[in-house]
Order: sequence, then structure tokens, then C-alpha cells
Amino acid sequence: MEKFNPDLVVADFDGTITQKVIWEKVIPSLISILRNEGLLDEDYSNRAKALYNKYGAIEKDSNYSEEEKFQAMLNWWKEHFELLKEKGLTKDYIDKAVYHPDVQVRKWFDKFLEILKEKNIPLIVFSSSWLGDEAIKDVFKKFWLSLDNVVVISNQLKFDENWKFVGVDEDKILHSMNKKLKDHLGRPEVANLIKDKKNVLLLGDSLHDPDMLDWMDFEKVYKVGFFLPEKLQKPEDREIWAKKYDLLLEADSDFSKITQLIK
Ligand SMILES: [Mg+2]
Repeated sequence: MEKFNPDLVVADFDGTITQKVIWEKVIPSLISILRNEGLLDEDYSNRAKALYNKYGAIEKDSNYSEEEKFQAMLNWWKEHFELLKEKGLTKDYIDKAVYHPDVQVRKWFDKFLEILKEKNIPLIVFSSSWLGDEAIKDVFKKFWLSLDNVVVISNQLKFDENWKFVGVDEDKILHSMNKKLKDHLGRPEVANLIKDKKNVLLLGDSLHDPDMLDWMDFEKVYKVGFFLPEKLQKPEDREIWAKKYDLLLEADSDFSKITQLIK
């Protein structure tokens, strides 16, 4: 088994730290659980799906330039936040998504965290989730996982005194096109963490996740990707993924191989 000694780990959240597939069922992201479970009303579900159809198509379409995609993704996130606000999202609904039985962290992630802590290796959790950084921390709390050496970078949702969602700072929206470490170096907790770091372990579950380290000059980056089962993808996809990642794990894998890698 190959070994890699990281001094920093950067990981995506949905489908990377959380289980992506359980018994061949693909587990949706936190926000999709909110939608699929009808935690908000049907009108919300329909409009969220319409936004997904409109902007998701642009995201995948190579005819759009990077700038056009950037603007489209920003608009998608803004419009969806507006919709969540209009529909009366509260902390209660977010809790219902967080505590939904389908939201599971991968097996042995706790052990992985323990080793990181022992070795004093910080973990940056990166997510463009609409439910924001506190929801991600709540998933850690749901499984009694320590956040001691963990920094969560995600959207920062604001609530009023009744825990009703009132919006986000629009200039701080984290969407799929600015989910890059270089865009967040202005945050002191991030700048301090990455100072003097050389070897980074990157964990992701999409073809975009390796871009989290774009334009960063670390000495060595080792990328591990959780890949969907063969039958859910086109056979040629594995080759495309293999170019983006150093190690591909099956989508339902636990953290034991990653733990062995860094032990
Ligand atoms: Mg993901």
C-alpha cells in the first residue's frame, strides 16, 4: 500500500465525508434531502428543481465560458437563497435534514479524524452547500466527531432571533465555481492553516473537486476520489476520473484505505 504523509487535508463534504451510496442507493446532498423530503412546500421543490434544470445545464455545457459559468452559478446560488428565505427556511428544517437517517458519515471517518488530530494535521472541509457551515458542523456533532483541528469553509447563513433564515452576505457566497482554496486566502484562519504546508491530501467525489487546489503551489498533492459504481456512469468515465485523481475508491468505500495511506 502506497504511503503519503500530508501536512494538510482538504476535503469536500457532501458525498465525500458523508456516504454517497448506501446499498446501491445514491444518497442526495443535505439540500436535496430538504427538497426530496418535502420539508418545505411543493412550490419550493418545483422552483428549486427549475433552478437546477436551468443552471445545472449551463454548468455542464462547454459552450459557456468560465466567466459566463461563474456568473450563472453565482445567480443560481443567489436565487436559491432568496427562494429559501421566501419559503421561510428555519433552523428547524435544517436540523431535520441534518438528522435525516440518510445523512451518514463514511465508516472509519472518525478514526481518520483521530489520526489527523494525533499527527496535528488540520482538515479543511470545503462546501458550497446552501445549508451552510453550521449545518456541516452539526453533522459532525450528530456523530460525536471532534471539530478541534477542522476548519469548515462554506456559506454563512444568517438567522433572526426566531431562527428564521434571513439571507447571506452576497459577496461571500460559495458556489460551485469559486470553491477554490485560493479564493479564501483572505480569511485569517485559512491563511494561518496553509502557511508552510507542503503535502496536501485532497478528498472529493466530483470531477470539479480537484479544482479546490487550483493555483496553489504545494510541493505534492495526492488526490483521492470517490467514484460512482460502474453501472451509474458511462464506462469511459473511469478514464476521465483517473486523470483527475491519484486514487479512485468505489463510491460506497469507507475511510480505511485513506487511513492506511497516511498512517
Ligand atoms: Mg460532493
